[in-house]
Amino acid sequence: MANGVRNELLMSTTLIDELAEVAKDSAFTNGILMRLEISPNSSEEVTYAPITLFPTPVPRALFLQGVAVQTHYNTLVDKISQDPDFLEEALASTITVDDFTARLFEIHRQVLKKGRLQTIVLGLNRSDYMWEMENGHTSLKQIEINTFAAGAGGMASHISDVHRHILRVVGQLEDSQRIIDNNPTLGQAKAVAKAWELYGSKRAVVMFVVEENEKNILDQRFIENELWKGNIATIRKRFEDVSESGLLDGHKRLFVDHQEVAVVYFRNGYMPQHYKSEKAWDARLMMECSLAVKCPDISTHLAGTKKVQQVLSQPGVLERFFPDQPQVVEQVRATFTGLYSLDMGAEGDKAVEMALAAPDRFVLKPQREGGGNNIYGQEICEVLGKVKNSAARMAYILMDKIQPESTPNYLLRMGKPLKISNCVSELGFFGTYVRHGKNMLMNDCVGYLMRTKSSECADSGLLSGTAGLDSVLLF
Ligand code: ADP
Ligand code: MG
Repeated sequence: MANGVRNELLMSTTLIDELAEVAKDSAFTNGILMRLEISPNSSEEVTYAPITLFPTPVPRALFLQGVAVQTHYNTLVDKISQDPDFLEEALASTITVDDFTARLFEIHRQVLKKGRLQTIVLGLNRSDYMWEMENGHTSLKQIEINTFAAGAGGMASHISDVHRHILRVVGQLEDSQRIIDNNPTLGQAKAVAKAWELYGSKRAVVMFVVEENEKNILDQRFIENELWKGNIATIRKRFEDVSESGLLDGHKRLFVDHQEVAVVYFRNGYMPQHYKSEKAWDARLMMECSLAVKCPDISTHLAGTKKVQQVLSQPGVLERFFPDQPQVVEQVRATFTGLYSLDMGAEGDKAVEMALAAPDRFVLKPQREGGGNNIYGQEICEVLGKVKNSAARMAYILMDKIQPESTPNYLLRMGKPLKISNCVSELGFFGTYVRHGKNMLMNDCVGYLMRTKSSECADSGLLSGTAGLDSVLLF
C-alpha cells in the first residue's frame, strides 16, 4: 500500500472503528481464538487472539533471507544436539549457577550414559528475528531460536485471510495479493506424521504434553486436527498424567494410560514452574529414556538455550558445525547481532562494563523462555550491579538491543481501547526436520509467524496481549 494511502486510512477514525469490528469477526470466522484468562480450562467462552488491524510491509529480500537460512538453522540445531562435547563446554559455566538448566543438563547426561535408543529425530523450531539498518542495508537479526514448543503456527496459518479481507474491504486489492500464503500447521503436522510413520506402529499415538491451564489450546488443536485427518491419533497429557499412568515396557516402549506413544510433542516443560514436583522431573526423564520420538529431545532442548546462542556467535564456532561450507557459515552469521559472555574473566568483565556504561544499548537475558524474563535499561544496572563480581552473573548473557524501524498500526485486543501506536515487528520462521540415523529425510522452512507490538513494550507476547498476530505484506 502506498504510504499516503496507508496514512490516510490510519487517520480516519470512523472507518477504523468499523474495520476493527470487521477484523474481529474475521478473526472469529478464521479460528484465531484463545480461551479467556478467567477460564483457561474451558472453551465455553473464548475470544479472538490479539491481532493487528493492518498487515506490515516487509522487504522481499529480508523475507527470502529468513526462508533461505532456516534449513541451515535446522541442520545447526540438529548437529549441536549430537555434539555432547560442545554442549558440555558451552553450558559448563551456566549450569554451575542456573538450577533449571543444570537440571535439564543432568537429564541429558543420564540419557547419554544409558545410550540413546531412538534414532528417529523430529525437530519443530522457530527462529525469530527483527531487522535493522546495518552498513546502509537492512538485515534480519536473530532474537532467538525456539527449539521447544515453538507455538502460534496454528493461528499464523489463518491470519493472512483476515488481513487480505481487510485490504479488500478498503479497496486495496493489489496489496491484498501481496500477502503471501502461510501454512505452518500443515508443514509441522507433516513432519510429526513422518516421525510417527517411521516409528512403525499403527496403534501408537502422538502425545501432546500440555499445561494444566491451556489458554492456548486452540492453536495446538490445529496440528492435532491435521494429524487426525491422516488417521493419526493424538492425546493430551500433563506431566502428572504421565507420572501416574506412564510406564516403559521391556523394549523401553512408552505407554501412557495403556496407549503406546510414538511421538512425545512437548508444548509444556520449558519453564521451571512447569515441573511442579519431583514426579514431573521423573516423568520427563522416563520419556527421554523411552523409545518414543521426542520433540524435542533433551539435547535439542539444550541446543535452544540462550547461552548456546551466545557461544555460537564466537569466532570459529559455526565452522565446527559447517566445516568446508563457508557460504553457509556466512549466511547464518549474517543473522547474528552482538552477543556477549558474562563468564568470569577479562571478556566477561569487559561486557559488564560495556552494559553498565550504556544499558539502553543492550538486553540482559537469563536462561529462560516464554517471555517476561529479559532485563532492559536501568534495570540492567541494578541487576548487574548486584552480580557483577560473582559467578551469579554467568546465569545471563548480554545481547545488543536491536533497533527496528517502527510502522504505525492498530492492535486489537479484548477489552483494550483502540488506539494508533508506533509498532515494531518480530518475524519468525518455522523450521521442521526429521532425521533417521544419519539420513536427513526432511529439512524445511514451513511458514512464518509475524508478531507486532507497540515500540514502547519490551516483550512480544501473544498470549499476554503485548503483541498482536500480524501478516507479511511483501514489497
Ligand atoms: P523468550 O524466550 O522469553 O521469548 P526472547 O529472547 O525471545 O525470549 O525475548 C523476548 C522478547 O524480547 C522478544 O520477543 C523481543 O520482543 C524482545 N527482545 C529480545 N531480544 C531482543 C534484542 N536483542 N533486541 C530487541 N528486542 C529484543
Ligand atoms: Mg522469544
